Amino acid sequence: MPGIWVYSEDNTLARQLLTAGQKLKETMGQPLGVIAISGEEIHAFIAAGADKVYVLQGENSWPESYAGAVADIISKEAASVLLIGGTLRGKDVAAKVAAKRKTGLVTDALTVKYANNRIETTRLVYGGLAVRTEAVSLPALVTIPPRTYAEAEPAADRQGEISTIDAANKDTRLEIRNVCPIVREAVDISTAQRIVCVGRGLAKKEDLAAVEKLVKAIGAEIGCTRGLSEDYHWLPNERYIGISGQKVKPELYISLGVSGQVQHVVGMRDSKLIVAVDTNEKAPIFAAADYGIVGDLYEVLPLLTEAMANK
Ligand SMILES: Cc1cc2nc3c(=O)[nH]c(=O)nc-3n(C[C@H](O)[C@H](O)[C@H](O)COP(=O)(O)OP(=O)(O)OC[C@H]3O[C@@H](n4cnc5c(N)ncnc54)[C@H](O)[C@@H]3O)c2cc1C
Repeated sequence: MPGIWVYSEDNTLARQLLTAGQKLKETMGQPLGVIAISGEEIHAFIAAGADKVYVLQGENSWPESYAGAVADIISKEAASVLLIGGTLRGKDVAAKVAAKRKTGLVTDALTVKYANNRIETTRLVYGGLAVRTEAVSLPALVTIPPRTYAEAEPAADRQGEISTIDAANKDTRLEIRNVCPIVREAVDISTAQRIVCVGRGLAKKEDLAAVEKLVKAIGAEIGCTRGLSEDYHWLPNERYIGISGQKVKPELYISLGVSGQVQHVVGMRDSKLIVAVDTNEKAPIFAAADYGIVGDLYEVLPLLTEAMANK
């Protein structure tokens, strides 16, 4: 029977996709299923709206192992829609599944809806300057970035069907000889609830020490614009925010000397409360901010730090 399916190797993201899946279920009238890579949260998925859960069991975690199994499941289940968690690995699996099923694929969708027997999606293009609407025929494969949707609320006493599927890698063209993990210096700021973001308004690297005092006073993580990490190398790359960096959605985002170019704003504009400090009253960051302070960060920063430390 045709259905709406969700796949992510990240269980939290899978529950976010279930929210998008439930909206499709309401309009399409088809059951909702989850393809999971572990059995840890089967019951949480069912409580969050899944009518059926497949658990993939395999010996290795390479996308090649999962793509074949996912493609087989959506074929067997005659899936109308497959929503895939838009992580780096998720997009890798998505491309492989699309190639195996010979279907189209929309990546980084911000909205997904069913209309005229097609799936309509929106996503940002031209570095966040425009929103593109696309329509794909069924079966539709769509990747959705983390935190685009809130996690689906669990409901008590829901029942669902559970199956286990072998996801062993049968593709002998790929042989893994060595694995070198990327050593990351920083924490994952994409999940931080408070962020102090510095831009090129900061005159020198040594001044980061003063910024760190504010960061500590409010229990935040430090973030930056691309120039501070890629050009100046003052902070690691995983701390820069924007279209080519991290997408963040904290409760509080404070910017210091950040002009607010669209490539940066796309990565932080969903923050709940945005406070911007910049000397230029015409800086675009103020259009995105809830509170703006037109002033020199070297004057504002100590005052802000003192005020927050005394809270
Ligand atoms: C394809 C592409 C992708 C990109 N991706 C990203 C991305 O993911 N993330 C990103 O951040 N950028 C990205 N960029 C770069 C982006 O376009 C901007 O150049 C960058 O965001 C600007 O960084 P900034 O605000 O730190 O610097 P600037 O634009 O130079 O702004 C510095 C600000 O500091 C203010 N200032 C100066 N002195 C002080 C002071 N003493 N006190 C207070 N304010 C002061 C100035 O008024 C100014 O507004 C990308 C660009 C391209 C072309």
